[in-house]
Amino acid sequence: MKDLILKLEKENKLTKEEWIRLIDGRTPELAEFLFERAREVRHAYYGKDVYIRGLIEFTNYCKNDCYYCGIRKSNHCVSRYRLTEEEILSCCRNGYALGFRTFVLQGGEDLWFTRERMTALIRSIREEFPDCAITLSVGEREKDEYQEYFDAGANRFLLRHETANDAHYRYLHPEELSLQHRKDCLWNLRHIGYQVGSGIMVGSPGQKTEHLAEDLLFLQELQPHMVGIGPFIPHKDTPFREEKAGTLELTLFLLGCVRLMLPKVLMPATTALSTIHPDGRKMGILAGANVVMPNLSPQENRKLYSLYDNKRCMGDEAAEGLALLKTEMEEIGYKIVSARGDALLETEEGKA
Ligand code: SAH
Repeated sequence: MKDLILKLEKENKLTKEEWIRLIDGRTPELAEFLFERAREVRHAYYGKDVYIRGLIEFTNYCKNDCYYCGIRKSNHCVSRYRLTEEEILSCCRNGYALGFRTFVLQGGEDLWFTRERMTALIRSIREEFPDCAITLSVGEREKDEYQEYFDAGANRFLLRHETANDAHYRYLHPEELSLQHRKDCLWNLRHIGYQVGSGIMVGSPGQKTEHLAEDLLFLQELQPHMVGIGPFIPHKDTPFREEKAGTLELTLFLLGCVRLMLPKVLMPATTALSTIHPDGRKMGILAGANVVMPNLSPQENRKLYSLYDNKRCMGDEAAEGLALLKTEMEEIGYKIVSARGDALLETEEGKA
């Protein structure tokens, strides 16, 4: 099986059958070998640097009803909030003072944030923070709207495809949402010129190895600049409340695989990973991740942005806990850096 890992490292791709064989055949020893290779590749491009992104969860209103997500519109237990432009700017100011040079605006698909409001917001951040990257994570929009946000100063966009298998996508989402539309959005974002991030939840209900293989093939085709992979974690007020969470072990294995498939990728050790295991973040970095995204939202809002149960949002998951995070990274030989941390090179291979 080591031969598959070496092939992946050399050719940056595997066939669907090979992916399935590798994932199903994994053992702790094989995983260790994979992580060693992944770290070596990561060190060649990024050294021991770990980039930080300040996550601002600016609204938990959502018009969508994804079965896995705690802020889905049918969840009437969650109290809804949206930050004002002034509050968002104040989060950015805090973040800037702490050393953040990337702000990630993430939210539900909230229609209150019309095209005009979003554009005005992006302009204000761009004006006050000309040296920072603005990342959006606001779901599916029309191409011209994405273009408008790009022109207003947004640089990056996170939109996980969630699963590249149609039937599995149907299983996780209501009728109104489609995998094709989500994929179209990703291609549109790429063509506009955003640095694009995609990804999946590991262990989402109904997920089979075959689906993971299809996810990896899709990521290989898309050649995203960023990939977000975290475990699925059930939320008590969703239809998937009884489902099992994804495992640390499989999540780490996939992080290692993605590092070898997309050597220059920017890949966070996610909050979900550190939620299922206290050392999840460190282990994610040691498996090939090179980004962390501490929470920069106002403290009183963090718990309300409840995508899943028991989300970690304090201490080392919080922007104000950066010192703790720094120590943690130093313990494993890595170093938090303040640089914007853009994608190393435009990946031109992405399909036109
Ligand atoms: N509305 C935006 C942001 C969604 S939240 C969008 O559509 O892209 C960001 C990510 O959190 C999602 O893409 C999903 O992969 C993840 N997420 C949602 N619910 C989750 C859960 N229960 N467990 C783990 N991750 C979850």
